[in-house]
Order: sequence, then structure tokens, then C-alpha cells
Amino acid sequence: MRQPAVFFGHGSPMNALDGPFGAAWRGLGEDIGKPKGVVMISAHWETRGLGVTAQEWPETIHDFGNFPPELHAFQYPAPGSPELAARVAELTGAVQTQQWGLDHGTWSVLAHVWPDADVPVVQLSLNRELTARQHYELAKALRPLRDEGIVIAGSGDFVHNLRTWKRQPGAEPYAWATGFNEGVKQAFRAGDHEALIDWVSLAEDAQLSVPTDEHYLPVLYIAAQQAAGEPVSFFNDSIDGGSISMTGVRIG
Ligand code: ZN
Repeated sequence: MRQPAVFFGHGSPMNALDGPFGAAWRGLGEDIGKPKGVVMISAHWETRGLGVTAQEWPETIHDFGNFPPELHAFQYPAPGSPELAARVAELTGAVQTQQWGLDHGTWSVLAHVWPDADVPVVQLSLNRELTARQHYELAKALRPLRDEGIVIAGSGDFVHNLRTWKRQPGAEPYAWATGFNEGVKQAFRAGDHEALIDWVSLAEDAQLSVPTDEHYLPVLYIAAQQAAGEPVSFFNDSIDGGSISMTGVRIG
């Protein structure tokens, strides 16, 4: 059965433990059920060349500092899938590796989506040698997987500016953040992938929303899965602390 492609705005790693975003992630998991596996493209695994995790049991990586001990101790013991890693390698030319596991871009979200950690997960890296367009073109190679029972997932944030982020709950979003968030949504609704690839032109002051592009690039992997006319919906559509978009996208 054809599985959806999903982009998650992950925000703070603390969202693994609590906060207002987990409910929508849990609802999504209940709606999707249990796919055969997940290929996750996370903002937090950047490499030279392309890698895919190939362990039977990927470790939970705590790739951050200065969070409470319970977050540093958090485990998401989902299995990997050497079989799925081999299939991804076949489709994309990725190198199969044991040198990564599940980073917080992956587990902070999937711990809500599939709380029983019973859906196999492999991560595909962000190859920093590629342009935005090349990321999009590469992502097309993943298309057959949805019909093989695999969810294609991306984890980042449309808008990710930590320098301007405000700690107060309920902080007003910056106009440039709202503008960019809306621009991305509009492009998905229209199936306008060229606009997503050329994100600098997507909205005014786009570079304030994307000061570095690692949190944005996973968006292109999900856009590349959207067939003409395929339905798109959004969840957790909000901007945290003024300049971190939590908006998620579901294709199919
Ligand atoms: Zn992040």
C-alpha cells in the first residue's frame, strides 16, 4: 500500500519529552499505522558524499548539549533495516555505514509518531557537496519506496533562525518568518517545486528564515515525492519563539 511522505518541523529537542507538538505527531502515527519502514532525512546529519545507516540496531545519538539529564538519557530503540539500507543504496548510490545512528531530528519526532519504536528506521544523510536542485533531483530516486510500504520522512524547520529566537512562550512571529512559512505552504499547495528549490526568491528576506540551509533542505526531499495533483496537508502550523517554524507537511 502506498505510504505518505512527511516533513516534520522538529524545533527544540525538548519536544521529545513534552510540549504542544507531540499530539499532532501521535495522531499522524495513528492515522498512518505501521509502515514497513521509514527513510528519514534529518537536518542533523550532514556529510561529504551520501550515507545511509545500515545497522540492525542504530544507536540513539544525543547530538546537543546543555539539556536536562532526562533528554541526554532518552532512548529510542527502533530497529534499523539493513535490507532497506541496501535498497536505498541501490536507488541513490549512498554508502551504507555504521557510523551514524538516529539523531535528535529523527527520534524527537518519531518517539511520538511510533511510540512503541517498532517501525524500522534508516537515515539518509545530507550530502553537503550538492546544490538545492541536486538534493531535489537525488530525492526523486526514493519515489519507488512509497509503493514498497516505506514512509519517506524529512525533519528540519522551514524557518530556523536561532539568533532571533525568543524564549518567551507565545512570542510574536517575525513578519519575515510568517512570510516564508506561508510561501513554502503555498508552493506545496500549488505543487510548485521550482519555487521550493529556488527558496531565496520564495519570500522577502528569505535568508533570515534560512540563515544556513540544513534545516530547510529536508523539505526538498519531501517535495520530490509529491506527484501532480497529490493531496497535501499541514500540521503543527505555527512559529515557535518568533523564528522557528514547526509546520509539518503530509503528502498523500
Ligand atoms: Zn534541528
